[in-house]
Amino acid sequence: MSEYEDKNNIKNNINNKEKQNSQNNLDNTGNLDNFDDSYKDDNNYDYESYEPIIGLETHVELSTKTKMFCGCKLSFGESPNTNTCPVCLGHPGSLPVVNKKAIESAIKIALALNCTINNRTVFHRKNYFYPDMPKNYQISQYDLPIGVNGYVDVNMGSYTRRVGITRVHIEEDTGKLIHIGATGRISEANYSIVDFNRAGTPLVEIVTMPDIKSPLEAKQYMITLRNILLMLNVSDCNMEEGSIRSDANVSVKLKKSDKLGTRTEIKNLNSFKFLQKGLEYEVERQINILKSNGKVIQQTRHYDDKTQTTKVLREKEEAHDYRYFPDPDLVPMLISSDWISEIKNSLPEMPYEKENRYKNTLGLSDYDSSFLANDYEVSCYFEETLKYHNNAKAICNWIMGDFTSFLNKDLISINQSKISPQNLASLVKMIDDQEISIKIAKQVFEEMYLTGKTAQEIISEKNLKQISNTDELNAIIDEIISKNSEVVLQYKSGKTKALGFLVGKVMAKTQGKANPKIVNDILIKKLS
Ligand SMILES: [Zn+2]
Repeated sequence: MSEYEDKNNIKNNINNKEKQNSQNNLDNTGNLDNFDDSYKDDNNYDYESYEPIIGLETHVELSTKTKMFCGCKLSFGESPNTNTCPVCLGHPGSLPVVNKKAIESAIKIALALNCTINNRTVFHRKNYFYPDMPKNYQISQYDLPIGVNGYVDVNMGSYTRRVGITRVHIEEDTGKLIHIGATGRISEANYSIVDFNRAGTPLVEIVTMPDIKSPLEAKQYMITLRNILLMLNVSDCNMEEGSIRSDANVSVKLKKSDKLGTRTEIKNLNSFKFLQKGLEYEVERQINILKSNGKVIQQTRHYDDKTQTTKVLREKEEAHDYRYFPDPDLVPMLISSDWISEIKNSLPEMPYEKENRYKNTLGLSDYDSSFLANDYEVSCYFEETLKYHNNAKAICNWIMGDFTSFLNKDLISINQSKISPQNLASLVKMIDDQEISIKIAKQVFEEMYLTGKTAQEIISEKNLKQISNTDELNAIIDEIISKNSEVVLQYKSGKTKALGFLVGKVMAKTQGKANPKIVNDILIKKLS
């Protein structure tokens, strides 16, 4: 459910929000975790006897032009309360009007997650009081959400985890409280002010079944989900700005037993790293309690990255009583089967379809295809590069190799790098045309990465062009032969390995610029 749950305990909730806000600032790199290509589960809990059971609730901010129920435009970082009107300020008597584009986006998401779309869907009022929501209810969905009973397949490298999707529903976001004081913390604030620019932003909530069996699976699920959302072009999925954030329900049970453990909820995990680290800590904490015959208490917790632990926010009541009831201002929506099939036909290629296409039409390996297809930005970059030079395998190798390690080191995404797809393509083409050796290309690539210059610019500036001119090479080779008479004798007496030594000498003499194939050919000719 939303982060604004506890209507009975505003103080806790405000503390909660304050912690979330400080947490938001801690991680600038969470959305880059998808470059982590290791599928190794490095947690150290007792997974021999215990099994974690994890379910996720993810909120996604849709990137529609206007808000969910009014004509105000969506904004981020603009002056407070500039994008507001009587509807999103909750003035009495104002009437909400549904944003069709938001419904379409929610249907897209539900279809991409293999859900059944409800032909009749209803908006409910979820009643509670909180100062950032003057209506005292949030418009959400209850028993008739947009989509139900879907699934998503999560590629774990050596196996696939199918995660069931319970529901996909739509709701409105609330305003944002800002605490004024020296530290910006509620506990030390003199007063709080509220910005309603965010109020009414369309949110889609995606709830999974408790099918996730490890913190790493949870992280891979989030990466997969974000990738799908990016492909659908329904949200910017910016995790730093909270456009996509998850709450995790987690319990552990004995593997040999069917009895489920008591679960806790970890709130507002807004990066892949926090999600995995928070769950790892929580799973270990619960296992330790069970091992010492203790009892896990049902709680809402918060992950603190500074201490890498989860802490109690509040003890959880058994069930929430929001007194949901159908919003009398919004009639039930009838979604025609025609509209659903129209949207279905317009869906873009999904990651798994992309992966198959890379395998079947580009001839890439399973691993390569999966690496490229399961990262939206990387797959776009790859396909763009391919338009300029048609050598899928070589382009893929550059992206997965040097490029990814540079990006990982600098914690930036491929779109933020200075190398354009066109420039990478021309580098690969120069190698294919034997204008430069791989060794030189690596040097050029690093320079391209650092400066944003084109391969051609760097090669001519530094005079790195491959020497394929046989006259020039003949002279150098003659010199090497005369200086290495012993090695030449060894070669002539049948030690073929000696040839490699001589090629190496020529390459060194030309600072790697000689065309090794031509050098090889000339040497064999001269020595035979
Ligand atoms: Zn408005």
